[in-house]
Amino acid sequence: MNVLDLSGKTALVLGIANRWSIAYAIGSLLQAHGVQVAVTYQNERVADEVLKLTGDWPGVLPLACELTDDAQVEAVFERLKNEFGSLNYLIHCIAFAERSELQGPFRNISRGGFHTSLDISAYSLIGAAQRAAPMMPAGDSSILTLTYMASERVVPNYNVMALAKAALENSVRYLASDLGPLGIRVNAISAGPVRTASARAISGFTDMLKQHAEKSPLRRNVSAEEVGKAALYLCSDLASGVTGTVHFVDGGYHILGA
Ligand code: NAD
Repeated sequence: MNVLDLSGKTALVLGIANRWSIAYAIGSLLQAHGVQVAVTYQNERVADEVLKLTGDWPGVLPLACELTDDAQVEAVFERLKNEFGSLNYLIHCIAFAERSELQGPFRNISRGGFHTSLDISAYSLIGAAQRAAPMMPAGDSSILTLTYMASERVVPNYNVMALAKAALENSVRYLASDLGPLGIRVNAISAGPVRTASARAISGFTDMLKQHAEKSPLRRNVSAEEVGKAALYLCSDLASGVTGTVHFVDGGYHILGA
């Protein structure tokens, strides 16, 4: 069996904004391997760009979805149920924090910034998983999210997003335990820095890229496509025994002690 022939499978990829989005890299690879993909974008501001980027994906279903609005999330899964019937892969590529929360001392995190960031960046996975699970066939389903090493190490300026990623990674473990008996696997990819719109909001991001390229064992940065290839593995039957993990795609940077 060619385990990377994923034809007949379906996926929902949350979070394409533009051609640099990691969600776009993952969605592109999934559809190139035969998956019918639905994608969500946040609002009409990015709709034209997303429709243009995904226009030639066979059977693509582009849907607007503001993830803080339960009615919109509900509507996306209703459409999916009607159009796809079942869902094999849920790919969560969502994060948000106000720019003002991604700079300066950690102790300055505001209550509002904390709520917003944890709601959008961590709760959104739980909200999507609870709606996706009833549509996911046992033994052939996978949920995947994207995280960053600041969840467990101190990275300057990551601040509230570091807390959101810690909550997200723990959600991966609890969801994996919850959904494992239903035959649904849940994992995260911890990516090294990739130049995207969200990443550029972090103060000092360019220095971070430089440091990773200089110090990581592979002596370079990783690409969105490399994250996409790991996503393909974690979705496919190649990873049939893997759940509850955080899989690093960062050129090995996370093993460094100094
Ligand atoms: P991106 O800006 O392209 O993607 C973030 C997406 O989240 C966008 O599509 C945005 O519209 C969406 N989003 C934010 N708030 C939303 C809301 N309220 N409702 C609906 N959608 C909303 O950036 P990216 O770097 O591709 O980010 C994807 C994921 O990868 C994020 O979880 C990010 O933390 C993670 N990640 C990125 C890097 C990196 O260096 N780029 C490294 C590790 C992990």
